Amino acid sequence: MNSSTCIFCSIVRGDIPASVVYEDEQVLAFLDIDPIQKGHVLVIPKLHVTNLLDVPEALYGPLFRAAQRVARAQKKGLGADGVNLLQNNGSAAGQVIDHVHLHLIPRYEGDGLHWSWQSDGYESRAESQETADKIKKVIDEWIAYR
Ligand code: 5GP
Ligand code: ZN
Repeated sequence: MNSSTCIFCSIVRGDIPASVVYEDEQVLAFLDIDPIQKGHVLVIPKLHVTNLLDVPEALYGPLFRAAQRVARAQKKGLGADGVNLLQNNGSAAGQVIDHVHLHLIPRYEGDGLHWSWQSDGYESRAESQETADKIKKVIDEWIAYR
């Protein structure tokens, strides 16, 4: 998928309609067309970027600032008691639209929404350390080569 075939790029260009709740130079936020709860918002960079792994550092701040504004407004404007921030990367993680987006979902006490979060625990302290090391080693190498 590239920017000419991407639904979210079409929304940025104004070629297809969306209920926009926030816009600045780099970011657009609009209602999800198929919300988990009413007021479920998607925050996207205007630049076509596939997912979190490709987001340029210059966009971290603008995206998170917009997410914070939306979350605060969902509390104040909709009376939400809490907000979930979700973000899917790759089809294995449930990403359907290949233009990076943050899901901001307003939550209410007792709203009955549950994620099916089954624990897949470690067998031992050694196994958890080994897992952490596999991630840490890669990050340490990147930092060393900067
Ligand atoms: P993903 O599974 O990729 O994290 O989520 C994609 C989200 O985009 C879904 O929640 C879906 O409802 C939403 N979506 C898909 N097409 C459109 C559209 O044309 N307009 C809007 N506003 N949302 C869309
Ligand atoms: Zn796009």
